[in-house]
Amino acid sequence: MARFTDKVAIITGSSNGIGQATAVLFASEGAKVTITGRNSDRLEETKKLLLKANVPETNINVVIGDITQESVQETLIKTTLDTFGKIDILVNNAGAGIPDAQGKSGVNQSIDTYHKTFELNVQSVLEMTQKARPHLAKTQGEIVNISSIGAGPAAQVANPYYSIAKAALDQYTRTAAIDLVNENIRVNSVSPGAVSTGFSSVSRGLDDEKSKKMYEYLGSQRECIPRGFCAVPEDIAKVIAFLADRNASNYIIGQTIVADGGTSLILGAHAHGAKLVEAV
Ligand code: NDP
Repeated sequence: MARFTDKVAIITGSSNGIGQATAVLFASEGAKVTITGRNSDRLEETKKLLLKANVPETNINVVIGDITQESVQETLIKTTLDTFGKIDILVNNAGAGIPDAQGKSGVNQSIDTYHKTFELNVQSVLEMTQKARPHLAKTQGEIVNISSIGAGPAAQVANPYYSIAKAALDQYTRTAAIDLVNENIRVNSVSPGAVSTGFSSVSRGLDDEKSKKMYEYLGSQRECIPRGFCAVPEDIAKVIAFLADRNASNYIIGQTIVADGGTSLILGAHAHGAKLVEAV
């Protein structure tokens, strides 16, 4: 039997990137999935990928909308229950670095950018968790949050509110995990490093071609990614699936798994390696 047979999962931000790959992986392994995002064309693309992977159409529920809107959150919960009868897994994946309207970085970024960034990357996760909680308690379910190595400890001057939002999310994961473990709900998170997705198009304003080139360049710089390449969404989806699978990760509570090809283990001094000695 496939590992997610009879499981029902809501995967936010599944119209693209990591969420899309997660929906395809979960559903290919038996899950019934609610997929969601604002962009109806890209959501349709996810649905096509699911059907191509031989997922029955009856195992797919589609909700178009902005996850920061309470009505959309409610629709996600209600239509999942109406369509599939229960909720076993919530993957809080929707997220982005919101570009500053005036193009500012560092401490000069506007407070409006701060609010929008927190609304999406933190508040919507809190709200979805609250709304899913009673249903996950019934099924003894799982929550997987998608954070980022941007959360720290390295400073992130280019996009500070995104990184502090993800740091807040990490603490929320730990807190919610201990609160909800009493109800037999497990909460964990994944912190990816660079993953080749639409993320750079949104947060850096790059078109698809430039975004692809940027990921290729980044992946070729060993002092940025020791593994030697940027992850693809499927690499992260596999880690999410591990944390969403109670048989595989039952005793892991409130943890963050870093999947970054070694990026967060490199300090500037390490990057220069032997050259440091040659320099003196
Ligand atoms: P993508 O931009 O490819 O996908 C982001 C997804 O989130 C899309 O489906 C998008 O859907 C959805 N989304 C964004 N804003 C909203 C919103 N307001 N309402 C509903 N859905 C929304 O990026 P990734 O797949 O890379 O991002 C997934 C997660 O991974 C995010 O939480 C991100 O912070 C995290 N991450 C990504 C890294 C990377 O290098 N790619 C690194 C570390 C963490 P739509 O546009 O249709 O609304």
